[in-house]
Amino acid sequence: MADDDRLRTVDEHLATVLDGVGSLEPIELTLLDAQGLLLAEDVSADFPLPSFDNSAMDGYAVRAIDTRDASRENPTRLQVVGDIAAGAKSRSGMGPGLAMRIMTGAPIPAGADAVIPIEDTDGGLARVAINRPVRSGECLRRTGEDLAGGAPALGAGAALGPQQLALLAAIGRDRVLVRPRPRVIILSTGSELIEVGHRPAFGEVIDSNSYMIAAAAKDAGADSRRIGIVADDHAKLLDTLENQLLRADVLVTSGGVSMGAYDIVKEALTELGTVEFMKVAMQPGKPQGFGHLGDKVPIFCLPGNPVSSLVSFEAFVRPAIRKLLGKRSLQRATVQATALEGAKSPNGVRQYRRGVLHRETNGGYSVSFVGGPGSHLIASLALSNCLVVIDEDVTEVASGSPVTVMPLLLSNR
Ligand code: AMP
Ligand code: MG
Repeated sequence: MADDDRLRTVDEHLATVLDGVGSLEPIELTLLDAQGLLLAEDVSADFPLPSFDNSAMDGYAVRAIDTRDASRENPTRLQVVGDIAAGAKSRSGMGPGLAMRIMTGAPIPAGADAVIPIEDTDGGLARVAINRPVRSGECLRRTGEDLAGGAPALGAGAALGPQQLALLAAIGRDRVLVRPRPRVIILSTGSELIEVGHRPAFGEVIDSNSYMIAAAAKDAGADSRRIGIVADDHAKLLDTLENQLLRADVLVTSGGVSMGAYDIVKEALTELGTVEFMKVAMQPGKPQGFGHLGDKVPIFCLPGNPVSSLVSFEAFVRPAIRKLLGKRSLQRATVQATALEGAKSPNGVRQYRRGVLHRETNGGYSVSFVGGPGSHLIASLALSNCLVVIDEDVTEVASGSPVTVMPLLLSNR
């Protein structure tokens, strides 16, 4: 059990969490499944890129020396002895004084050392008039000029975006070893909760947290799965968690971690001795649970109020998911913005206020607060696009002063 008298700081709790999160075994995935993930192997090219000398332009393959005296007034005329399209399967050849029509990406014929773009000729089919001298090597793409055979292409740790996937495909890799997406299992606890799709009867509340957290985990890069609602019942909770352990890299619950008589997440998991419940000096999100179940599967027990749940996710779960993904930067980027109104914050507590971040015409940012102190206010939560972070030692933010803002940008992964 944590010492109940002293609150942990957000940074202390985050350090505990990150300490308790290891890494996942790399897996092999096809290229598009690997999008957004980090490479877990060094990849080198088996063959050079390009793999053959080819033309950079539509034009004529020539010997540069044959065009020495060419000019617009007095063009050099060469006999055209063939056509080479991209995809030509064998290498053609040509002798002195001759030319071949060639397309972009087509193999350079033996005997030619340059390509003259079609724009600098009369485009002739049997004979071509060349309007200027060509430099040897002009408009050629040399074998291996992009990447030599055997050369390193991408190193372990590289993030696989469109550019990197293009290179992997170009060098013939259809599968790569990557850090997998952590499988995050989300469940909501509370005997008042019902599934969405029904109008709540008196005393019932529709479970919205599991949708919010599943979406947030997916956005953070996880494979997230909501498994619905568990009533405030010891045995049912332990049973459900036990059933999910095999398919989980991370478990996230919401609700049941405060001081109430039916806060059974806290009760049931404290008894196991592998999950700790503590108070963190933050607002909202003071009660938190973190530990491990089964074979070291990290479990986060977040408070049930929707705003508290989201703030807790941002503060602790998102960085843990990013660590599992192998990312180096675990925290969201922040920006400085001018507060459009003042705010008070308790001493010694890190306060997260919901905000609406605006981009000013001068390129700077300003932010207004949205939603009051209540952590149950979902409508105002839906209006917000950022969290304003008011540090522990700040008790008052004056209107017009700079504040730290964490934009909740969607990754669109
Ligand atoms: P708890 O943390 O279980 O004490 O819940 C605090 C408040 O959050 C209560 O008003 C709950 O009804 C509400 N709440 C808990 N879980 C959810 C959920 N999954 N979706 C929406 N509201 C919830
Ligand atoms: Mg509850």
